[in-house]
Amino acid sequence: MSVQYQGIRALRTLLDSRKASATELAQESLQLARASASLNAFTDIRDELTLAQAKAADARLASGEQSALLGIPMAHKDIFVTQGWASTAGSNMLKGYLSPFDAEVVDRLNKAGMVNVGKVNCDEFAMGSSNEKSAFGPCHNPWDTQAVPGGSSGGSAVAVASGVVPMATGTDTGGSIRQPASLCGITGIKPTYGSCSRYGMIAYASSLDQAGPMARTAEDCALVLNAMVGFDTKDSTSVERPRAGQEDFTGLLGQPLKNGDATQPLKGLRVGLPAEFFCDGLSADVRAPIDAALRQLEQLGATLVNISLPRTELSIPAYYVIAPAEASSNLSRFDGVRYGHRASDYTDLKSMYENSRSEGFGLEVQRRIMIGAYVLSHGYYDAYYLQAQKVRRLIAQDFQSAFTQCDVIAGPVSPTVAWNIGALNADPIQMYLADIYTLGASLAGLPGMSVPVGFGQGNRPVGMQLIGNYFQEGELLAVADHYQRHSDWHLRTPA
Ligand code: GLN
Repeated sequence: MSVQYQGIRALRTLLDSRKASATELAQESLQLARASASLNAFTDIRDELTLAQAKAADARLASGEQSALLGIPMAHKDIFVTQGWASTAGSNMLKGYLSPFDAEVVDRLNKAGMVNVGKVNCDEFAMGSSNEKSAFGPCHNPWDTQAVPGGSSGGSAVAVASGVVPMATGTDTGGSIRQPASLCGITGIKPTYGSCSRYGMIAYASSLDQAGPMARTAEDCALVLNAMVGFDTKDSTSVERPRAGQEDFTGLLGQPLKNGDATQPLKGLRVGLPAEFFCDGLSADVRAPIDAALRQLEQLGATLVNISLPRTELSIPAYYVIAPAEASSNLSRFDGVRYGHRASDYTDLKSMYENSRSEGFGLEVQRRIMIGAYVLSHGYYDAYYLQAQKVRRLIAQDFQSAFTQCDVIAGPVSPTVAWNIGALNADPIQMYLADIYTLGASLAGLPGMSVPVGFGQGNRPVGMQLIGNYFQEGELLAVADHYQRHSDWHLRTPA
């Protein structure tokens, strides 16, 4: 049986029934990764390291150990530092960099017995919405190789959508898990800010960055999230909750929610539809499958309620001030002395910094650093950065007032299906505008996910976004799982 396109549940059965070993799964994933090299998803593959992890997993299996993720192949976004595999954040600045330690999330998944097949492509330092801004070159959408896979976790989405691995890690600062998941027809969740440790995640915007799983189904996301989430003293914004690390995100799956019963499991669940998410900018071919999915949620018992997130439009300027401001600070360490590429050609200290940073960083990253330094500078700080922080607070408050009227919020992830590679490159603002539906939850720190609901123009995938209140990922995943029990979009595979 081919492991291509198999979810974690199916692979678990293969492993537990001894029909396949972790080594065989790893070998097949490695082969699939090589066979799909033209998609440019994988940036570093090292068979000997993968097979060593697989061998260790087989030994644990042979000793009778039973656990959900033991022996399951995975891939990591190149934003996570990994021992053995190069960790470059898709940048020439870190070309070939080998980390002496694993990111906390990587370490947790290793301990759970998952087997790393390799590192996957992303926009440089996670800045982008298309995975075109990578030093490794663009990554291609398996549904249509002319199309972008979305970004910045494009390689993660492609590795899963092309069936190489059942799960890949992603990071989401302003939509980078949800948007590529949507554009590639897979399921992805960004948990509440602070749930997964940021330790060893190469920083973009620290008050927004959050790791999460990208997989085929909500159930697989829940299984992996169980291992990823947990308090970490090495991350100062890690949230210490009473049951952190012991939370079971699969707990609510298949269970009736609220007043639900077996036939109407979502009875009593109020699904909020923000007026601002369903207006002019949303293209009709994206809206139609989302409307159909909402009707399906109604059939499962949910009640649709109209809500408003009045400052949705302001999320773009607020985010594109705050994220670059934090990026300019985080990326100052890459100066060719403390970290990163050093130019070979310079005459003094200043020209060494200038040449190193100009050579190491791509143009989009340089643009963000310049915007960030500008909005933080004396005289502009009050007018831009401070204002943006105030708007951010108001946006978070809007979500809280929405959650007095509904339990989860539903809407689009992206205003359009995946666009063609190169189509938005000339105009960065157009690309920023495409983030309109994902930035709000990021600024507020709320959990959000993308669930495949159909196809739009050019037979390109469409995802529906579900946003929950803080720490309601279990409920979000349960809603998505009920939907997936009654739909098969998440099972479709590219030709
Ligand atoms: N597209 C957004 C940006 O470029 C979000 C990226 C992300 O979530 N990492 O900043």
